[in-house]
Amino acid sequence: MSLFDLHCDTLYAAYQNGYSLAVNPLHIDLTRGRLYTPWCQVFAVWVPDSLRGNAAFSFCCKVLEFARAEEAACSPRFLFARDGKTLKEEGHCRECVGILAVENGAAIGGKIENIAELAARGVRILTLTWNGENEWGYGCSCDARLGLKPFGKAALTALEEVGIIPDVSHLNEGGFWDVVAHTTKPFIATHSLSATVHPHPRNLNDRQFEEIVRRGGLVGLSLCGEHLGESSFDRVRRHAERFLSLGGEKTLALGGDLDGTVLPPEWQGIAVYEHLREYLSQKGWNDSLIEAVFFKNAANFLESTLHSPKLPV
Ligand SMILES: [Zn+2]
Repeated sequence: MSLFDLHCDTLYAAYQNGYSLAVNPLHIDLTRGRLYTPWCQVFAVWVPDSLRGNAAFSFCCKVLEFARAEEAACSPRFLFARDGKTLKEEGHCRECVGILAVENGAAIGGKIENIAELAARGVRILTLTWNGENEWGYGCSCDARLGLKPFGKAALTALEEVGIIPDVSHLNEGGFWDVVAHTTKPFIATHSLSATVHPHPRNLNDRQFEEIVRRGGLVGLSLCGEHLGESSFDRVRRHAERFLSLGGEKTLALGGDLDGTVLPPEWQGIAVYEHLREYLSQKGWNDSLIEAVFFKNAANFLESTLHSPKLPV
């Protein structure tokens, strides 16, 4: 089966523990990912809220260098796509095509010019905040009424200019509506669930989801138990079906947060998607809906949206 997953923290976990991407005891490695063909995976570099300024930027760069070294070590069965054309053409002839992301705008160390540097290093998606406050704005653990800071609005413009897609997962609601007001292109929520099914500040309310649909973006379903409200496939289905009821047939995708959250052991890391697919099929999801959510929606969006940036020389 095909799989396109919009968020995992495997790079951070592998870097911190000295593991490889090829084989490791984490949720995701390239060996177990052979279950899926094609398999496209967004690999995020998580920058903890404890890091700010140059410490955040240099940590991010170190993990990006680790990612490049792993790409070289696992070549040719694995590569990071820098544009939509590569994503489309290489998906079927590699075991995995990765896309580099950064989770937490703190990674630019408060300097707008570092956005171009991250783009040059292959980053194509950036999550504006984690749960706390950073230079851009406020995460979901902060007051929901606070919006983006002037720096965050300027940084958003710079993201759009270099072609990095803004990710609103983790952002508070005030910041979300500022992203709507200060961007023109579609944006995404790589790993978020429905606040109507389970009220949690990390989850999106119906208005937010409908706005992402209207803008032509994507929302990846997270498998995080705390945000689901209960770690069960039935609960995943309820979140998905809430979003589908809001017109999300082309918006809904997967963003499991593997290696960023605790999964029930029986979900078996990346093998979870095979079991989830079977479950949804038994519950009456037809093949074309499953294919859209498990692969096509994300592939269609990113194949047409990802471009190598035009950077100043
Ligand atoms: Zn996250």
